[in-house]
Amino acid sequence: MTNETIDGIKALLNTPKQIAIIPHKNPDGDAIGSTLALFHYLNTLGHSCTVIAPNDYPNFLKWIPGEASILKFESDSENATNLLNKAEVIFTLDFNSLSRVGDDMGSVLEQTDAIKVMIDHHQQPDDYAKYMYSDVSMSSTCEMVYNFIDFLGDSDKIDATIATCLYVGIMTDTGSFRFPATTEKTHRVIAHLIEKGADNSEIHNNIYDTNSYSRLQLLGCALQNLKVIPELKTAYITLSQNELDQFKFKKGDTEGFVNYALSLEGIIFAAIFIENKQDDIIKISLRSKGDFSVNEFSRAHFSGGGHTNAAGGKSDLNLQDTVDNFISILDAYKSDLSQ
Ligand code: 5GP
Ligand code: MN
Repeated sequence: MTNETIDGIKALLNTPKQIAIIPHKNPDGDAIGSTLALFHYLNTLGHSCTVIAPNDYPNFLKWIPGEASILKFESDSENATNLLNKAEVIFTLDFNSLSRVGDDMGSVLEQTDAIKVMIDHHQQPDDYAKYMYSDVSMSSTCEMVYNFIDFLGDSDKIDATIATCLYVGIMTDTGSFRFPATTEKTHRVIAHLIEKGADNSEIHNNIYDTNSYSRLQLLGCALQNLKVIPELKTAYITLSQNELDQFKFKKGDTEGFVNYALSLEGIIFAAIFIENKQDDIIKISLRSKGDFSVNEFSRAHFSGGGHTNAAGGKSDLNLQDTVDNFISILDAYKSDLSQ
């Protein structure tokens, strides 16, 4: 963050403000953790804050301090719209384009004249915010919110509540501290959060060890569907709506499944294709190891984006046609994938 941005934000937050804080649609641990950490921090400064999520999120995030106060635009759009229109400042966290909050909420955001602040680590950010803290090298938006509080000279205000929220997002976005964006600085931040009272073992338990039996059965089904294309070092998983229904799919149940495909020895590119009959799309998650950019791949073929090694996208074709399309596209990447 530049000194000019820091000074601008300090001046902005000098007097109590009505503030809305927004994560992306289908928020994950980093999106919910970072928005709630900022919420607690700005409340301690005397601002009046609300976190407004575009839609609901998985149950394994429904214990994070402050979570119960989150307003969901999808199910409470009138209240959410009023609050967005009243907000003097809107923080957008863990996303890089207003399209990432969905069409309805996106058009409300576009029309407000609130001052917008972006804190985000995704590639190719749009230029909608007056103040931008964008850094694609960061492990997580939570690590950036930690830095943000530090830049404002307030790291002593990080208490156990804020530390817990921040720990969640750093842990989930780094795959429990294993992805390449995990730096020694990340570990120093984590050490400080534990010092402040984040209970690392309990947080891990709350996020990862609260599976339902049916989710594990769904994982079994996904693993049965795993296909490997050894010559392209690629593996992919499909889940049809019927399979999701059979195993009582709930939001968040498929989180992390794609990583099993990537965990195969020698595989550097993994995908999962999940049928969503309600939205009439196939939701796609892409992961890679090394230089193969799934962000570029998703932008080019599946109307999505994200990071070099983790991205998402969608397809309007049916499940089989989407997979056939995917396989035919891979041909053009032979030289990148077979080395
Ligand atoms: P996931 O595959 O876990 O849903 O997402 C992986 C990464 O890609 C996350 O950082 C997520 O924010 C981003 N992402 C997921 N879906 C989309 C999408 O449709 N568009 C863009 N631009 N990014 C996405
Ligand atoms: Mn993130």
